[in-house]
Amino acid sequence: MDIIERFLSYTRINTTTSREKGAAGIMPSSDGQMVLAQLLAKELTALGMEDVVLRDTAILTATLPANIETSEESKPIPTVSFFAHLDTSAEQSNDTKAHIVNYQGGDICLNAGENIFLKETEFPELVDYIGDDIIVTDGTSLLGADDKAAIAAIMNALQVLKANPDIPHGTVKVAFVPDEEQGLRGAKAFNVESFGADFGYTLDCCGIGEFVHENWNAGDAIITFTGQSAHPMSAKGKLKNSLLMAHQFISMLPGGEAPQYTEGREGYYWVKELSGNSAKTILKMDVRDFYKDGYRDRMTFLQNLSDSCAKLWGESSISINLSDRYENVANSLEGDASFPITIAKESYERNGITMKAVPMRGGYDGAVLSQKGLPCPNIFTGAHNFHSIYEYLPVNSLKAASNVVVEVIKITAEGHK
Ligand SMILES: [Zn+2]
Repeated sequence: MDIIERFLSYTRINTTTSREKGAAGIMPSSDGQMVLAQLLAKELTALGMEDVVLRDTAILTATLPANIETSEESKPIPTVSFFAHLDTSAEQSNDTKAHIVNYQGGDICLNAGENIFLKETEFPELVDYIGDDIIVTDGTSLLGADDKAAIAAIMNALQVLKANPDIPHGTVKVAFVPDEEQGLRGAKAFNVESFGADFGYTLDCCGIGEFVHENWNAGDAIITFTGQSAHPMSAKGKLKNSLLMAHQFISMLPGGEAPQYTEGREGYYWVKELSGNSAKTILKMDVRDFYKDGYRDRMTFLQNLSDSCAKLWGESSISINLSDRYENVANSLEGDASFPITIAKESYERNGITMKAVPMRGGYDGAVLSQKGLPCPNIFTGAHNFHSIYEYLPVNSLKAASNVVVEVIKITAEGHK
């Protein structure tokens, strides 16, 4: 099957993640994810993959066995793996109606009736794709290239390897997981030990050439302020207003270190949720930093701030709960463990693609898998404008993503001699 038709067929299955069902602990959180996983299981079997296993959670795994014999003297070939997620973000839940346009510059009309355009002024990187075929939506849904472009790229790579048995390769494993878009639930439920890969790659980021091998160290802070209520006619000297305590606490945070003022590798405190009344107020914050020390310093700062406030207002007035969420994937790719980066670089180069390493200001499945002992940097899918009706996928970038997967598999086998 052609990679374009393959991708389009996956976009026709609505796999929008359901936050409600997810919050209730149901996985997959939507039936469409299981429908897509069932289709992929059939396709994997038809391609001749072994150990095709589809679980109740919609986690799907399969193996392409090695086609080279290794002697006792030769180095063993590490087992490489590739991951993509089945779900699409809940920002939009309409069915996807994708179509292909040959881009000649200027704005792309997505939907004449609704007057929806993909505008060159808003998305100036479109000029890089003049002359290319681009897959877009009708402006009423996501495209779902996040992450079905990845699924298509991986499936196509397996098809290429099966069709070309002269390409030597070691054991290759693939996994498709549900509910990435709500707290990386699929990756969290994934059993890295039984999967048995030595390293892997997620395909879950943006334009051609991008590569992620670092992201946040991430944590949560929940601060509870407890006041003392009193009737206003006799409140003097008695009322302690927890809303004002929270207000004072927030005012003591470093003002510029917030998402709206930071970029690149700059960390932040994100005041995310504030709820309460004068008796009790709860403040929820995200803490993010690329550097281990920076992250620890931020968590310590919040603890110290809370301790100082406790001295000011009394021990029972404030309590803080700090917890780690995920760790920077770079922590698992240091020193001798950095070879997945080297292999990816070589693969991009052989495909004539300039690698652009992007510090990812977010989490992704690979960060969770890395923390579980399966180092997983992140390769591009080629798509732009994730989580938006303006999501689009240049066909050449999709093909390039698949070529990178094939080349990574080849390079992994080359080192064994
Ligand atoms: Zn994604």
